[in-house]
Amino acid sequence: MTTINEAKLATKAVWAGEKDYLVHGATQVPVIPSVAFGYDDMDEWYEVAIGQKKGHIYGRNTNPTVQAFEDKVKVLEDAKAATSFSTGMAAISNTLYTFLRPGDRVVTIKDTYGGTNKIFTEFLPNMQVDVQFCETGNDEQIRAETEKGCKILYLETPTNPTVKITDIKKCAEAAKEAGALVIVDNTFATPINQNPLALGADLVIHSATKFLGGHADALGGVVVGNDTTLVEAIYHYREINGATMDPWAAYLLLRGMKTLDLRVKRQAENAMKLATYLQKVEHVEAVFYPGLVDHPNHEIARAQMSGFGGMLSFAVKGGVDTVRDLLPKLQYANRAANLGAVETTVGPARTTSHVECTPAERAAMGIPEGLIRVSCGVEDADDILQDFKQAFAAVRVGV
Ligand SMILES: *Cc1c(COP(=O)(O)O)cnc(C)c1O
Repeated sequence: MTTINEAKLATKAVWAGEKDYLVHGATQVPVIPSVAFGYDDMDEWYEVAIGQKKGHIYGRNTNPTVQAFEDKVKVLEDAKAATSFSTGMAAISNTLYTFLRPGDRVVTIKDTYGGTNKIFTEFLPNMQVDVQFCETGNDEQIRAETEKGCKILYLETPTNPTVKITDIKKCAEAAKEAGALVIVDNTFATPINQNPLALGADLVIHSATKFLGGHADALGGVVVGNDTTLVEAIYHYREINGATMDPWAAYLLLRGMKTLDLRVKRQAENAMKLATYLQKVEHVEAVFYPGLVDHPNHEIARAQMSGFGGMLSFAVKGGVDTVRDLLPKLQYANRAANLGAVETTVGPARTTSHVECTPAERAAMGIPEGLIRVSCGVEDADDILQDFKQAFAAVRVGV
């Protein structure tokens, strides 16, 4: 018999993290909504409370269903420790606030997720933390700024929404030399396509709301790492500050994750086909997908990812007017601020990922107002292509 850690990703997605939580012969992990866990033995209670013995005390700290979720992600990312959160943004903010102090410096990229960007432009400067933004995709600049000294190098690759790629290994090396912590938001790639820990990252973050859950019905976030001390420090911040994952969300996310490998592979196939088609459409000005050979960082993507993911974006001629005309014509797509779901989901960046930014800020990040983000679902690619074809055929503006 081999251990689950030696299994392939699709097997891990199905089996990992579940066995220790099954009860009464059930084959599925139960939802345990209990807020507190009782003890008749006062000494045992005390031992669990001070962490000398395994067990649960209070739901803000730990919960069995939530722990099963953490264990599955841990195995999928090949990490030694994981801690979960109520949302992806809670995972990101709690992780940053665990380690940053006034006077510290963070190096990051210009196109992080909109909410993350707000932490860097608004909340960290309020705490006297200096944030250095680098041009996304300019790995030399990232290295140079990191070498000047920083507490944290924070990356996200591929980025939201223009799917730019950063060379994780190259940038992590420079950060290590500077004694910095390397944090990577791996939401877009998923553990199926990219393992930042293996490329030198210290901590990997997911918005579990997206691909991990995959069904757009539960919010969650998670941080994993190999240095248990780091992850325990983040857990401590979370248990006190309280952005805990709900057991019902953990259950839905666990169930969703069982099909992660299947879904992500289909989504990547659909994305490649849609991106290739969009390049030939006369209404389309530019297509952004790391799987396209003319993507500026295609080679790096090929080297550090085992698939190019289900996210792409494209800019239409005629800007917002074309967006307004085109998107309502799609039959098999939700027009919503979500991604990673089994349904194809579309939306303009100015309404979704970067709604928090001003038009000037979006322009500075290289995000055209006519940019449409597509999260490819698991539908049949032929139907998706046909749907876009009929929608473009009926569009009057932007040609
Ligand atoms: C959605 C998203 C987040 C935030 O996650 P929430 O679960 O919505 O809080 C962070 N990073 C990326 C890349 C995302 O797509």
